[in-house]
Amino acid sequence: MAACVWWRTVQRGAQSAAVFLSRRKVVRESPRRWLNLQEYQSKKLMQDSGVTVQRFFVADNPTEARDAAKRLNAKEIVLKAQILAGGRGKGVFDSGLKGGVHLTTDPAVVGELASKMLGYNLTTKQTPKDGVKVKTVMVAEALDISRETYFAILMDRACNGPVMVGSPQGGMDIEEVAARTPELIFKEAIDIFEGVRDDQALRMAANLGFKGPLERQAADQIKKLYDLFLKVDATQVEVNPLGETPQGQVVCFDAKINFDDNAEFRQKAVFAMDDTAESDPIETEAAKYDLKYIGLDGNIACFVNGAGLAMATCDIIDLHGGKPANFLDLGGGVKENQVYAAFKLLTADPKVEAILVNIFGGIVNCAIIANGITKACRELELKVPLVVRLEGTNVHEAKRILSESGLPITAASDLDDAARKAVAAIAKK
Ligand code: GDP
Ligand code: MN
Repeated sequence: MAACVWWRTVQRGAQSAAVFLSRRKVVRESPRRWLNLQEYQSKKLMQDSGVTVQRFFVADNPTEARDAAKRLNAKEIVLKAQILAGGRGKGVFDSGLKGGVHLTTDPAVVGELASKMLGYNLTTKQTPKDGVKVKTVMVAEALDISRETYFAILMDRACNGPVMVGSPQGGMDIEEVAARTPELIFKEAIDIFEGVRDDQALRMAANLGFKGPLERQAADQIKKLYDLFLKVDATQVEVNPLGETPQGQVVCFDAKINFDDNAEFRQKAVFAMDDTAESDPIETEAAKYDLKYIGLDGNIACFVNGAGLAMATCDIIDLHGGKPANFLDLGGGVKENQVYAAFKLLTADPKVEAILVNIFGGIVNCAIIANGITKACRELELKVPLVVRLEGTNVHEAKRILSESGLPITAASDLDDAARKAVAAIAKK
């Protein structure tokens, strides 16, 4: 079903921690994009909250990486490729290098390894199949790890608030732990007013397998991670591994933080770190106009309002034997220039052979959409067939605008009619 394709697209890059929370399918409310930072950026935020991380530098060329390794003056160095995806340890570069995380005692080797990472694509279980280009590496002081645990704090719909999730079996394959030994996954709901209580933090630390003085230390780290979670308006803080060293230290060896986009106005410093280079450029452009863009494989562009309507539209197109090329969701309060921007984005995609507009106006004023459409058609000299289905607020006015425009716009009476006409328009060509 087309809708399944859609959900998969939406969920691509969704947090792995979410798999622990429920057996039902984890779905997002809308195709929003949560800000995601690189590990080194997340670790800086952690440092500021008193969370224990290794000393590190970042580098964007091999010489700098080698010099950073010298400057660290550590017994052993860990070199880590920075991409917005997990599973780097088991990843592969298109330079032939295996592993996005390497340990060595020799700064010269750091330089050599960095030259096989930087500028190359790293493919992991969580990246697209061609991988993601590495532009930065992290050079950190390596510590011995005697045990790896998993710890995360995230928002859970079922608990109506934040929840801690942890496992004594941390490290690289936490998804498998969740699938095979769910009894080793521990959860603890956090009262948003009370915060993490001492007894909760200690119980989680004990469940993670920290013993003796390490239990208190781990509990302290857990509380500091929650402070950070609140302070930066995170939707998820994931540490895998949260490890212990033979010297008796609890350390966050990896860091993944996602942020609530609605908090952008009060988290300016965090959002300023946003690196959109790894995002789809069309998605980024769409976001500038408050439009959500999801690219798909077919040839019918869809312009809709609301995620549910997007799914329905994709399904009905599928039912009529067509395939959606993408969809743009314009959400609620729409402006004419958004409609124009939307058409520009939709028609820029060479796969698009027809456009289907499906607007069910509630808050959305159909007349504004109609004006936006006619303006876009004229100025962009639209070359592909356009099928429009409008319903709801001010629809009569909207239909009049479209029919009086003299433009070759095919009106549709309902979604089924629209999908049928869009598929037929392509078949005719
Ligand atoms: P990921 O594969 O993308 O999740 O990257 P991680 O940062 O979690 O690193 C992968 C693995 O490398 C970890 O699970 C550790 O086993 C190992 N690792 C990372 N940093 C260190 C370190 O400082 N010392 C040691 N001994 N191992 C490390
Ligand atoms: Mn990790």
